Amino acid sequence: MKREGILFVISAPSGAGKTTLCKEVIDIFPNLRHSVSYTTRSARPGEVHGRDYFFISLDEFKRMVAADEFAEWAEVHGNFYGTALKTLEEYKTKGIDVILDIDCQGAHQLKKRYNGAVYLFVLPPSYQELRRRLDCRSSDAPEVIDRRIEAAAGEIKESRWYDYIIINDVFPKAVEELKSVLIAEQCKTNRVLTGVSELFEI
Ligand code: 5GP
Repeated sequence: MKREGILFVISAPSGAGKTTLCKEVIDIFPNLRHSVSYTTRSARPGEVHGRDYFFISLDEFKRMVAADEFAEWAEVHGNFYGTALKTLEEYKTKGIDVILDIDCQGAHQLKKRYNGAVYLFVLPPSYQELRRRLDCRSSDAPEVIDRRIEAAAGEIKESRWYDYIIINDVFPKAVEELKSVLIAEQCKTNRVLTGVSELFEI
């Protein structure tokens, strides 16, 4: 059945667990891909160029911005991040669903560009739990963690305009909620209709 690929845009304060949630559903849905962003930040231990991010220089990032190669881009916690327009368009026309793990500024930009995208926000159960998770992750310096906690309050306010909110308290429950949203959106009449209208003369 032919239909356009769906863009699922997921935002959350760092430490809410959205990256782990996204990985979990990508392993389950064969027609779902992770959008690999471009960033000027350095790779963390274990991160792989081309799988987690495309790690590029600031000069290369600026070149891509000037050439209008990004569907959205933003400065987050002192580094630049962006999503390649060409990749999103390819997924959309090929009917492949894509999950974008991006911040609220980028989500805002996409909201203006893409009507049919779906916006999800992942919340931690509390601020205390958010700090605990960031401390445990310990891949970032303490001052970086402080900056992220400060930013979290502003980001959380943005959740009000998203289509769905998932509270990541008990992880398997959050996965079930995310899966349910993905499945419900895939079954929406306007998405399915184009693929079946000829078949059933609807
Ligand atoms: P991290 O450096 O921890 O991987 O990501 C930091 C923040 O940047 C996260 O909120 C993440 O969602 C966001 N981010 C990652 N890729 C992109 C992107 O392509 N565009 C935007 N706007 N934000 C991104």
